[in-house]
Amino acid sequence: MAASRARAPGRLGRRIAAQFLLAASLPAAVLGVLAYGSLRAQTQEQQQRRLEHEIGADALRVFDRLVAARAALRLLAARGEQPAALPPGSLFTAISLDDPHAAALPAEPEARTLLAWWRSAPRPPGTSLHWKAGGDAATVVLVLHQAGGNRSWLAQVDARFLWADVFEAFDGGTACVRDAGHAALHCAQGAPAAPAAEPAAGLLHASKPLFLEHEFGAGDWRFEASRPRGADALAGLPLGSLVAKVVLALLLLVAVLSLAQVRRTMDPLRRLVAVTRRLARQDYAARVALSGDDEFRELGESFNDMATQMQVHVRELQMLSSMDREILDAADADRLLERALELLGELAPGATVAIVVVDAADRGRPRLQWRSAAGGAGGTTIDDDAARSLTALADAGAWLEPDGPPALAARRLGLDGAVLYRTAASAHGRIEAAVLVGAADLALDAPAWRARIDGLGRRVAVALSAAAHARQLMREATHDALTGLRNRAGLQAALRVALADERPFALMFADLDRFKSVNDSLGHPAGDALLRVAAQRLLDALPPETIVARPGGDEFVLLLDTGPQARLAPEAAARAVCACLGEVFVVEGHEFVLGASVGWSLHPADGDDANTLLRRADLAMYAAKEAGGARTRRYDAALERAAEERAWIVNELPMAVERGQLVVHYQPRVDARTGRAHGAEALVRWRHPKHGLVSPARFIPAAEETGAIRAIGRWVLDEACRQLAAWRREGVAIERVSVNLSARQLAEPTLFDEVRAALVRHRLEGGRLELEVTESMLVDDGGTATATLTRLRVAGVLIALDDFGTGYSSMSYLGRMPLDVMKIDRAFVRDLGDGGPADSVTRAIVALAQSLRLRLVAEGVETEAQAAALRALGCDELQGFLYAKPLSAEDYPHAACVAAEAAVPAG
Ligand code: C2E
Ligand code: CA
Ligand code: CA
Repeated sequence: MAASRARAPGRLGRRIAAQFLLAASLPAAVLGVLAYGSLRAQTQEQQQRRLEHEIGADALRVFDRLVAARAALRLLAARGEQPAALPPGSLFTAISLDDPHAAALPAEPEARTLLAWWRSAPRPPGTSLHWKAGGDAATVVLVLHQAGGNRSWLAQVDARFLWADVFEAFDGGTACVRDAGHAALHCAQGAPAAPAAEPAAGLLHASKPLFLEHEFGAGDWRFEASRPRGADALAGLPLGSLVAKVVLALLLLVAVLSLAQVRRTMDPLRRLVAVTRRLARQDYAARVALSGDDEFRELGESFNDMATQMQVHVRELQMLSSMDREILDAADADRLLERALELLGELAPGATVAIVVVDAADRGRPRLQWRSAAGGAGGTTIDDDAARSLTALADAGAWLEPDGPPALAARRLGLDGAVLYRTAASAHGRIEAAVLVGAADLALDAPAWRARIDGLGRRVAVALSAAAHARQLMREATHDALTGLRNRAGLQAALRVALADERPFALMFADLDRFKSVNDSLGHPAGDALLRVAAQRLLDALPPETIVARPGGDEFVLLLDTGPQARLAPEAAARAVCACLGEVFVVEGHEFVLGASVGWSLHPADGDDANTLLRRADLAMYAAKEAGGARTRRYDAALERAAEERAWIVNELPMAVERGQLVVHYQPRVDARTGRAHGAEALVRWRHPKHGLVSPARFIPAAEETGAIRAIGRWVLDEACRQLAAWRREGVAIERVSVNLSARQLAEPTLFDEVRAALVRHRLEGGRLELEVTESMLVDDGGTATATLTRLRVAGVLIALDDFGTGYSSMSYLGRMPLDVMKIDRAFVRDLGDGGPADSVTRAIVALAQSLRLRLVAEGVETEAQAAALRALGCDELQGFLYAKPLSAEDYPHAACVAAEAAVPAG
């Protein structure tokens, strides 16, 4: 189908062919008409002449016959004979002698008729011709007058003789011989004898006179003929069809020629169209096959030139747009320079191209990257002189003078030949790079070239500034603005690299202890200054390859190489960190000794992913901090277990109250002298479906952190009151219950109301309840805790100071506190009796309590010796495993009595 379409002349072809045909057929038709006309005219003239000739010949023949007939008559007359009878072969049909002297008439009837006609007619003298028209043929009579006599010879000319052959070959028309009076003497066979009134159109007419006056003394005869025009002559000749054939042949020839010409024209056009279509389909390699040496060849050549230009241009655009893409993707500058050089190389085959990065972002010298026509490529930093020249060259912002200093400088870089350059100024007006193209034989100063290099230069500039910007952003994204150390993202990146490298390393967390105090006392700028100093100390203290990061706050994270080449073992590094951060910080004239808690995990021993390692190092650091700070701790599995426990506790504790999982155990407090249990301390436990009876030591700290302690504390308070009331109703010997308060509860403004509500609800007087608080709760308080406790105390509630001796133990404030009871911490009781410092401290505590008139209770009494010592010191009440462990509410009434009995000292 394609082939048939290829052979079809196409619309334009058909049009051209039609125009050819039209152009040719018009003159052909005119020519045909003219030729036909002239041919016809000629033919008609010929016919006319032939007709005239024919009748002229007939006329002559008739004249000759008349003359012959006259001669024969004269001969007859000369013989003087009486024409008795017609001689054989006579030219006449009747002869008669008109002799007035003769008596007898001729015997023959014809002769007598003739004579009779003659005598009635006028008789002119001499020989004369007479005729009598009538019917088909006229009677022609010759009359010969004999001189000297009055005789006339009369002879009727034989019509067969006279008219033989006349008009014989005449057919298809009319012909007659007429006399002056238009009487027909003889007509062609079938011709009407009467003359046509009007000569008919389309007929040829000819007429020839036969002059008889001179010879025969008679009026002239006229030979007349008319014949249809061309009817006979042209009918034979196929004149019309001939002309038509000629015209047809001409047109055929024109058609063939025009088709050939159309083909000659259309083929290159068609090729051009096909190639144009391919170009339109972005097949830029398409070229027209050239043939012939006419304008079509020139057109093809121009077209091919254009396609080549387009190909180059498109390639250029592709590369530029791919550069743009890479700029947008913030690909690194080196890669972009590579691309730009590649493009330059393609744009200028045979040239050496170079890009000088004038303003190298990374503090280095200006860099030069180049690529030569020979395929070489490279990059160097360039010396200062060349750099200055190139910078000047870039500053000039113009095309290079071939012999100017910048050109020489460029030549020193190996850019030979005519060197052109274009500065590449960044968007910020800063010169980023110079693009240089060196080639001896390129028309580099052509505007198109300048535009190309210009465009490229601008892109290189944008690329470089984008890359610099990206670097800057990257740096900002991965580095801490305050210390210049890596931030969290930077640390993550470094960790990824280290993990990917599979090299062993230690991940170390160092957290400044008490940093908050700096911020609180001197403000954040001071804290920032201290952090900067700390950062610098860390950098100085650790091997240079150590990655030091500050993910946030006062926490530093170190990535320490622990491979065979490591300069510092993790333990040593941790100590070094601890030591350098433990030194005095002087900020705004103030001295701070903070110390740091350091914890670390090891890769791969403690984990092989960033999260695990980070979490474990953090756990270790947290443990170090928990342990009091200013110490180092390596991660171990126990930390993880503790953390896991904490996790489920934190998760499930908020629901423990609602689910009824909490229970209160009661530990009796025994009178040191009587051994009777007056009261008991309420101690909460968590009956966990999976973990069993969970000690408050495990969950109270978490409860305090999460705030769950409020609900727990409220519940314990109510439960203890309820239980006490129940016991008292049941007659159990118990005076009072002690309930531990948490700092959060004490800070709660509703505490007083809650306590009073609990007492009211269970119908207890205030004196039935004792609340245990710790020193720290009173010290950190802004006065509200003390106020609440004072109100409670006014309501009769007793206040005990729990765990005394472990806190600040500031004597000055104790006197002002609303206290009734002081509980000596277990730690002192444990160490009692060995004559060590605990003995004297305990003695001092006892003295203090006595001086403040507080009731003194000792906790954690486990041995009789401890009990004896405490009793001797003057303790009022004792509490501990020696008497009873914390007991469930069911066990308490019975067990407490037993314990009390057992506690009564012997004697
Ligand atoms: P705490 O107030 O000092 O309670 C006394 C702790 O000492 C109890 O531990 C008790 O079982 C234990 N203990 C008593 N006698 C001895 C002894 O002879 N030897 C030893 N080694 N220990 C003894 P427990 O019940 O595990 O309670 C731990 C801590 O949990 C309590 O210390 C208290 O601070 C807190 N706690 C317990 N219940 C509550 C509560 O309802 N509210 C609040 N806020 N804290 C509570
Ligand atoms: Ca307590
Ligand atoms: Ca205690």
